Amino acid sequence: MAELSFSNLSKQFDGVAALDSINAQITSGEFVALLGPSGCGKTTLLRLTAGFEHPSAGEIRIGGQTVAGASQFVPPEDRGIGIVFQSYALWPHKSVFSNVSYPLEVRRVPRAEREARVAEALSLTGLSDLAQRMPSQLSGGQRQRVALARCLVFDPRAVLLDEPLANLDLALRASMQEVFSMFHRRTGATMLYVTHDQGEALALADRVAVMAAGKIRQFAAPEVLYREPVDCFVAGFVGDGAVVSARRTGQTDRNLLLLNVLGQEVLSRSATPEPSHVSVRPESISLSDDAPLRARVTGCTYLGGQFRLTLDTAGETLVAFARQRARIGETVGVRLHDLWAFRDPEG
Ligand code: ADP
Ligand code: MG
Repeated sequence: MAELSFSNLSKQFDGVAALDSINAQITSGEFVALLGPSGCGKTTLLRLTAGFEHPSAGEIRIGGQTVAGASQFVPPEDRGIGIVFQSYALWPHKSVFSNVSYPLEVRRVPRAEREARVAEALSLTGLSDLAQRMPSQLSGGQRQRVALARCLVFDPRAVLLDEPLANLDLALRASMQEVFSMFHRRTGATMLYVTHDQGEALALADRVAVMAAGKIRQFAAPEVLYREPVDCFVAGFVGDGAVVSARRTGQTDRNLLLLNVLGQEVLSRSATPEPSHVSVRPESISLSDDAPLRARVTGCTYLGGQFRLTLDTAGETLVAFARQRARIGETVGVRLHDLWAFRDPEG
């Protein structure tokens, strides 16, 4: 397994930037998710890493070797990378066994070793009993497991996955997430996993790169993204809650500021001495009858175990969790705590 590194990597299509100076290092064995809305450049970054596209500028290294740069270009078949697509891309006329065996045949691995490695890959993906089936006789989840087995059978230096679960229904997605996790633990593969689903990224990845418009906005562990977003985009895209403007009114020590938020004075952790916004997660709101900040209940949905309330106060919509159902239109008291403040570059 190998580390991946992107330096000042850019890609333009017809003069339009799909990727704009990407810098990131992915450690060997790390499971990294690329998360962002449709069109932000996730697939382009994967295709450049695989060698299906040439960069417009910058450099890609795999295991310390430059595979794409100003004067180097290593073709896809020599990069030692496994790829899993949303569309499976299995050979329809080959059995499960033959599909998985194919990358080893191409690499001229001797028959006995080939059979042993295919058996191991099928066992790792829970497919041993389906080895003789044809792809048409498999469910969507089983097909995606075959694609995974096929890309792992040749010990790739890294595995790239482009929205591999997008075609599966919700229940199957959850169980396939377990398969990917287990797989990563057992193989220690370097994995780069593209998704637009923040729940999937937070659940699976060691670190998540949040992308927007061809740039990485924040690259951090899931709990850091959730607790300490760097800007309004990340705060809004990752996790539930609200982002509201804030103004400093005082300071208690280096990282704890007194802020005016929705007309209330609140103590907040902060990335910067002069923040512009706070991230207000549902856990940061307590409902209390005597709290001075009043809010109107505009929505109440049952999540199982608790209710999710949307609250309107001073033109802002907050999200809170509650043990009891609330009536739409009723007024509640809101107390804010454990906020995180940051300065948004766009103001
Ligand atoms: P994502 O995978 O995040 O949805 P993509 O990487 O597919 O985004 O696309 C990023 C941007 O680059 C989009 O604006 C898309 O239209 C554009 N793009 C991607 N591939 C091509 C291509 N082959 N030719 C022209 N534009 C492209
Ligand atoms: Mg894509």
